[in-house]
Amino acid sequence: MSETEQQLPPGMPPTLALEAHLAPYAAHASQSRGRRFAETPPAARTEFQRDRDRIVHSTAFRRLEYKTQVFVNHEGDLFRTRLTHSLEVAQIARSVARNLRLNEDLVEAISLAHDLGHTPFGHAGQDALHECMRDHGGFEHNLQSLAVVDQLEEHYGAFNGLNLCFETREGILKHCSRENARKLGELGERFLAGKQPSLEAQIANVADEIAYNNHDVDDGLRSGLITLEQLSEVSLWHTHCDAARADYPDIEGRRLIHETIRRIINTLIVDLIEATGRNLERVAPQSVDDVRNAPPLVAHSDEVAAQAAQLKRFLFKNLYRHYRVMRMANKAKRVVTGLFEAFTDDPRLLPPAYQARGPVTEESANDAPSSPHDSSQARLIAHYIAGMTDRYALKEYQRLFVIDNN
Ligand code: MG
Repeated sequence: MSETEQQLPPGMPPTLALEAHLAPYAAHASQSRGRRFAETPPAARTEFQRDRDRIVHSTAFRRLEYKTQVFVNHEGDLFRTRLTHSLEVAQIARSVARNLRLNEDLVEAISLAHDLGHTPFGHAGQDALHECMRDHGGFEHNLQSLAVVDQLEEHYGAFNGLNLCFETREGILKHCSRENARKLGELGERFLAGKQPSLEAQIANVADEIAYNNHDVDDGLRSGLITLEQLSEVSLWHTHCDAARADYPDIEGRRLIHETIRRIINTLIVDLIEATGRNLERVAPQSVDDVRNAPPLVAHSDEVAAQAAQLKRFLFKNLYRHYRVMRMANKAKRVVTGLFEAFTDDPRLLPPAYQARGPVTEESANDAPSSPHDSSQARLIAHYIAGMTDRYALKEYQRLFVIDNN
């Protein structure tokens, strides 16, 4: 939906009508803690729907198409990117939220935004940038996602960032150190007080894991880095692979893989709905505040949690530590570190738009900033590098370090 509001027929206020079905412990947009900058309420959508729409229209969201998690963008057209990953997370999270009468719009907004702050080259890129930023407060992708929506997007006349609701920002900030939490005011309070975020935030978090565990199996098999034989040691895999073969005795190849994965995803989603439903019955929260004061309520059953953990361990050992993945991670580290060092040595190499954004002086290069929301030299460089897609980072590296005939 565009920013243009549509008129609803007179009657019930639209925000209330759109959320009338929600459980009392759901996050209601009409009871949001609000935005950092006050705005006129939308006429035909809820505040969380407006957040989702702003995220979809953001520049950082489009960049997700060319950022990766495990495989680098140019390795193949069919591997997941951060964009398709985020869409899969949103699908899973919405299914769970709908069944528990929680706010689908909020889980969708959180899911679509949760990876906006990721660096190029997945975890390898993040680790490298964190290392570069060690003396400047570090780099953490959750905080960077928050910086994108709070500060870095340039879309609106009245403010920097997307000016999202507290609840969406709370969901984006999955982890945070106590040190950083102290600098984040209201948003950081839960990390200091040991409280939980909304159920919608908790769902987006688990949906993220369900999505990547399954699509990494699919991409791992597609790439040939893992094999069906190896996977047979994983109980979730062999249970559902056997079931697929029992239903379709002649099934093989891609069709068998997809039929198995869809069954695993379904099992995880249904288990998550049922186990969380039992937790909700037991704890009986009456409001979002009750949820925030309770232990984490969105969780798998013990049995399925153990199976999911086994799958995760399998992927860690056999895929994420595969020598071909490690080689690519090593290259990614060189690119990110090389870019950071070049820009730090001579900030005049930064594009003019970035030079204009903040202090690019020799004095500020020696500051010791620590918040991702500050505008010091090192943080400015980290923002620039974090915003790069895989291919842009590679091109920028070539532009800085390779002299060719062009
Ligand atoms: Mg993710």
